[in-house]
Amino acid sequence: MKIFKFGGASVSSASAIQNVASIIELFPDKKVIVVSAMGSTTNELETLVKSYFNRGKGTGEIFQRIKDYHAGIITGLNLEDSDLELVNRLFSKLKKRLSGSPSLNFDYEYDQLVCYGELISTAIVSAFLNQRGLKNRWMDIRQSLRTDETHREAIVDYKWSEMLINNSFNFQDADLYVTQGFIGSTTTNQTTTLGREGSDFTAAILGNLLNAESVTIWKNVPGVLNADPVDFPDTVKLEELSYKEAIELAYSGAKVIHPKTIKPLRNKRIPLLVRPFDFPDQAGTMIHDVGHQLDLVPVYILKKNQALITLSPSDFSFIGIDQLSEVFGLFKQRRIKVNLIQQSAIDLSLCIDEPEVGLESLIVELRKEFDVLYNTGLILATIRFYNDDALGKMKAGRQLFLEQKSRRTARLVLK
Ligand code: ASP
Ligand code: MG
Repeated sequence: MKIFKFGGASVSSASAIQNVASIIELFPDKKVIVVSAMGSTTNELETLVKSYFNRGKGTGEIFQRIKDYHAGIITGLNLEDSDLELVNRLFSKLKKRLSGSPSLNFDYEYDQLVCYGELISTAIVSAFLNQRGLKNRWMDIRQSLRTDETHREAIVDYKWSEMLINNSFNFQDADLYVTQGFIGSTTTNQTTTLGREGSDFTAAILGNLLNAESVTIWKNVPGVLNADPVDFPDTVKLEELSYKEAIELAYSGAKVIHPKTIKPLRNKRIPLLVRPFDFPDQAGTMIHDVGHQLDLVPVYILKKNQALITLSPSDFSFIGIDQLSEVFGLFKQRRIKVNLIQQSAIDLSLCIDEPEVGLESLIVELRKEFDVLYNTGLILATIRFYNDDALGKMKAGRQLFLEQKSRRTARLVLK
């Protein structure tokens, strides 16, 4: 049994969905297909939630826009009214929800509305596959993927989910299931979501709980590349990666895999394949249990919108454990992610994700204890398997603020 995951880009139009069907036809194995919301529907739904929550006038219009986009795809797929019972029911439910009043809990309301992106997209994909002769069962994953109540960032309850998922996806009534990524539900049947871009994670959870042979993520790239082609002209596809290497890359900011995807797979040694949906006969990249140290080309990862803050105690004392714990307490409180730390006797430098708001007040707070220097609009560049040539290329034409190296990884803060 295999898990295939198709993201928003692979179901963003009628022709894209036809391509999904051709990929499924190529592989006769028993499968669970995990699908995301179509195109940028989740972004649209986020706008819808904000408007609904603030009782904005434009709510109906945003709803209509989302509905029209899906209607265009449905027409392109030549689906008949009789195929669309579920899709229509979901749109009616969404509309009904919008006609009610929101509670005071934004994150809760978010989950109750944003889930429709995945519910509707899977209903359309499932109907189309059936029409094309690929008999499948649509599954509402909320019946079996149990989470806690942390809305928008729910934590999966593996124990509960294991039993429920194995009961629902039992392959007795079907060889092919179509279900949603990104969403789940609490024990009291309230919908939750797993965090943006969470569908890869869902595919990995299902892989783990159903003991899949492999999990394949079909994407619009040839596989995992050694750099983002948006930033670098010459990229190389990596044939294989170890789980550890994949975690390092995802953590440093490589967007191709969601960082949470690896752990559930690595725990059961299930291979993860990243393959191009435009060239389904190409092998892509395999992430698996590699016994030896891989000899890889330099891998470049850029994290943008970084701020570098350098602190030194105003009284010229050394930086000790007390100051460190105070500083990190402050960052934790403000939920600011620290990506790199460098310390000397009297300086502490921290590279952080630049907060959208609140940097000024953070600096004011820090200035109570420290002399503070800071720069914004920086890039944190990570180079795995760096060499002199790679470092030179990265630094060329840029201003270097900080450099940190271990045996395999170099990290540079640049402007
Ligand atoms: N549709 C969700 C999002 O765009 C989940 C996903 O695509 O992985 O964040
Ligand atoms: Mg998406």
